[in-house]
Amino acid sequence: MIAPTMAWMRCAACGHVFTDGYFTDEASAEIFSATNPNQQPGAAFEKNRYLSARIVERVARYVSGGCWLDVGFGNGSLLFTAEEWGFEPQGLDLRPSTAEGLRRLGVEAHCADLTTLEAPGRYSVISLADVLEHMPYPGQGLAAAHRLLREDGVVFASMPNYDCAVWRLLDATDANPYWGSWSTSTTSAAGASTSCWRSTASSPCTTRSASATGPAWK
Ligand SMILES: [Zn+2]
Repeated sequence: MIAPTMAWMRCAACGHVFTDGYFTDEASAEIFSATNPNQQPGAAFEKNRYLSARIVERVARYVSGGCWLDVGFGNGSLLFTAEEWGFEPQGLDLRPSTAEGLRRLGVEAHCADLTTLEAPGRYSVISLADVLEHMPYPGQGLAAAHRLLREDGVVFASMPNYDCAVWRLLDATDANPYWGSWSTSTTSAAGASTSCWRSTASSPCTTRSASATGPAWK
């Protein structure tokens, strides 16, 4: 069961933004049972290739060739482009249908959590493009990436930046996909109509561990 609203917290001391609580295993399973059309492997590949190429070109300055693991590969654009640069592409995603879709396009794909992957030293590149901010414990994800990388391996990570004009514009027009008043595509794909809203925490985020253990999403 997925709650109809998502409460956002902002640390009064440092500005850190986070959700109040975590998805239960049942809610996660429901969310990951569906995939948005634009997240299906192959969707808008040519269009996204330009952005992907900028990422691959940058990574290729530090490492050439080897196995590239993209976590949360979505439409697969980054992996398809990395393959053109000579990397051996491999995908990891929590959605079974997405992993299956990538396999159909001839790319090795696994449906698993990064922290459970057993291939130490296997990868020359691990990309986490807008992934870490979705992980309940991003530190564990980075530790797993470190374990899975080979000696001279490279991590590529990107995440939203709320300290910029684009973000302020999204907020000003109530169009921010994180907490705007529109249905979030992920959960509506799973069949729930959801609107998100923001609240402000007055306590510093060091108290977060108290709410982390609470059943806020049950
Ligand atoms: Zn803080």
